[in-house]
Amino acid sequence: MSRVSLWGSLVFVSICAGCQLPAKTPAQLNLTGAAATASQAGISSVVPTDVIPTKLMSDQEITGLAVPDPVELPSPVPDPLRIVFPTPAPVPVSAWRPPLYPTPWAPTPYDHFFFSRPIAADEINWPLADYRYGGVFLPGVVHSGIDIPVRLGTPVMAAGPGRVTWAGYGLYRGVEDPTDPYGLAVSIKHDFGYQGETLYTVYGHLGRIDVLPGQHVEAGEMIGLSGETGKVTGPHLHFEVRVGRNNYFVSRNPELWLAPPQGWGILAARLSNNTGELINSQQVTIISKETGQTWYVNSYGEGTVNSDPYYRENLVIGDLPAGDYIVWLPYEGSTYNTEMRINPGMVSFITFRGKNGISTAPPSDPQVDFTPPDSTQTPTP
Ligand SMILES: [Zn+2]
Repeated sequence: MSRVSLWGSLVFVSICAGCQLPAKTPAQLNLTGAAATASQAGISSVVPTDVIPTKLMSDQEITGLAVPDPVELPSPVPDPLRIVFPTPAPVPVSAWRPPLYPTPWAPTPYDHFFFSRPIAADEINWPLADYRYGGVFLPGVVHSGIDIPVRLGTPVMAAGPGRVTWAGYGLYRGVEDPTDPYGLAVSIKHDFGYQGETLYTVYGHLGRIDVLPGQHVEAGEMIGLSGETGKVTGPHLHFEVRVGRNNYFVSRNPELWLAPPQGWGILAARLSNNTGELINSQQVTIISKETGQTWYVNSYGEGTVNSDPYYRENLVIGDLPAGDYIVWLPYEGSTYNTEMRINPGMVSFITFRGKNGISTAPPSDPQVDFTPPDSTQTPTP
């Protein structure tokens, strides 16, 4: 098997492994007037279009399409849809999120929640819990994005402003290919970058595409409908963030790039053994001291996943209500735990170093090649 076809098979598995049966839809949520109007407008404006496979456009080609000059960080945009608690029946905690922080959300120089969620707030718009970024389906094959378990035909929105660089079948190899594991997919090159590097987002397994290559889209603009094209076992949206180049190998954890719900936070962790070698696929249990709600999350598997240059993490779980938690993990016959606080709108960080246990100190050894961005500096497109 050639390297290309091998990787094709691997990514096939990597992408399809996340596919699950559609999750239960959240209890009926009432939209506010403006939100309802937006939702209806988004849906009623849908006009079926043919899929237009095309070649992957190079940066030069994209530049030739009159990409605007470097732009400043996008102005904060409101979450496209706002929800309110339904009154007739209680909603399970897991099926509700507060409105998101406006993007770009960067509470520290090290954070970059530049993207809004590609699914509106009246649907499930958070990752499938048991197949996050870095999740493993086969040894050495890890998940390069997150899977959002939406129903068929759910509007999919651009996570940020940018120009469409791919729309159709064939994203993985960059050539038209009806067997592409991503199925019908869109990629967007964003108008802003991070630390001098270009940012791309990817939307896979779509059922319909409503944009054309070269088209400029705004954050929250509908680009198509969710589907189950490509190598899937059920409908969902596969979402990726890519840094520097538009390919599978430079993905980053989308949970460090998507704005969190207001008042909620993110846990990032670096799990290693005594000598600092990362521990793959280590399960960690996170328990809310207030509610007792429990989350299970694994560290990244070994394979094509990339850590953030500052956090150097190998585990992330987003959408945790701010508050006090107990983090617990078993390791080599012992159990380790610590109490920690998840701060609203922030990344809270822990380090585990084998028998040295768990530390809640912030990252203390950023790589020498990492320089916090100057807040006055204009990100490069
Ligand atoms: Zn996926």
